[in-house]
Amino acid sequence: METSREAKRKDSKKNTMHITRRKTRQITVGKLKIGGDAPVSVQSMCSTDTRDVAATIEQIRQLEAAGCEVIRVAVPDDEAAAVLPQIKAAMTVPLIADIHFDHRLALKAAEVVDCVRINPGNIGAWWKVEEVIKAVNERGIPLRIGVNGGSLERPLLDKYGWPSPEALAESALNAVHALEDVGFTNMKVSLKASDVHHAIDAYWLFAHQSDYPLHIGITEAGTALTGAVKSTMGLGYLLSQGIGDTLRVSLAADPVEEVKVGFEILKSLELRHRGINVIACPTCGRVEIDVVKLANELEKKLGHITTPLNVSVLGCVVNGIGEGKEADIGIAGGEGKGILFKKGKLVRKVPIEELMDTLIQEVELMAKEKEAEGNGTVVVPSNEGWESMAPESDRPSTRGKEIPVLSSKP
Ligand code: SF4
Repeated sequence: METSREAKRKDSKKNTMHITRRKTRQITVGKLKIGGDAPVSVQSMCSTDTRDVAATIEQIRQLEAAGCEVIRVAVPDDEAAAVLPQIKAAMTVPLIADIHFDHRLALKAAEVVDCVRINPGNIGAWWKVEEVIKAVNERGIPLRIGVNGGSLERPLLDKYGWPSPEALAESALNAVHALEDVGFTNMKVSLKASDVHHAIDAYWLFAHQSDYPLHIGITEAGTALTGAVKSTMGLGYLLSQGIGDTLRVSLAADPVEEVKVGFEILKSLELRHRGINVIACPTCGRVEIDVVKLANELEKKLGHITTPLNVSVLGCVVNGIGEGKEADIGIAGGEGKGILFKKGKLVRKVPIEELMDTLIQEVELMAKEKEAEGNGTVVVPSNEGWESMAPESDRPSTRGKEIPVLSSKP
């Protein structure tokens, strides 16, 4: 039962943290809905050589276990295209083929996968794009149009002088309009830049002129730490503005880390509630238990739980239990023991050496109880009130119009 404290907390959040999501069309990738009222999904890309089927399937299993909802693989040659059926057969989540330069590979991939990603800037002549459209239409699968600062069309580079956000947005809008002209609308769009500001501006410009769902990401963001920070800043800003329907955190690291960071971003913004949220104090001179070790091990050992639960690990009782009142369950150090508490209320004292096992058992029990109550793992804020320059009709809004200047950004 909800306490008055929880009710008040929720009420205050309504006033301080209300994300209104952009209204978009909805597409279907495999069984996954993207855009519209679907929750923002988390995706990643295999770092294995796709032709190494065993290694690729092993990585896909790890990504699926981490909660990854869509997985992309590179298809750089015929050999990679030929193994797609084997890879697809081993998967439970949708598969996207990532194609550059060679449209023939897109045609082959379209026979197998759930979505094909192409970059119109490097696929070549228009008739090649049309062949790809025909192939995806035959299977009713969508395209992801991926525009990238590194492969912009020459006329746009000449017009803007550099791969600016305006150039990226215009390139994506041009591609969308060209596809619409041949009757194709089953697509999502990405506009990738490695600079956080440029990526934000490019997505913002596109989002206000089109209602296609957006795959958001900061490309080549960096290593596990720097890439996570850049992605959090860029994606966090966009998502807080209601922009973004599916995301990938690009890290020079194990792709499983991309999934973890992706979910943490969504959880922080309360766009998704999934799994354990470990709240740990930074420790100070009052600390009485090994908070760092306990918090890190808990994250690892409770990674299989998908039910949303806040679990706190606090170094002492001085502020511990008070600080942990927002948690569902937690421990605080106190007088050589650990104090187990639930919803801010002391339950019992536990010997330090039993703390980890006790907390794991209690969390697993609480997760089962919460599952039995039917608590969902997904939060989707409404999109009522999202203001866009795009009309609600199917017609694109930007033909013949100037792309708005960034200074008009709220
Ligand atoms: S909970 Fe205790 S140990 Fe942790 S930071 Fe606060 S005062 Fe320090």
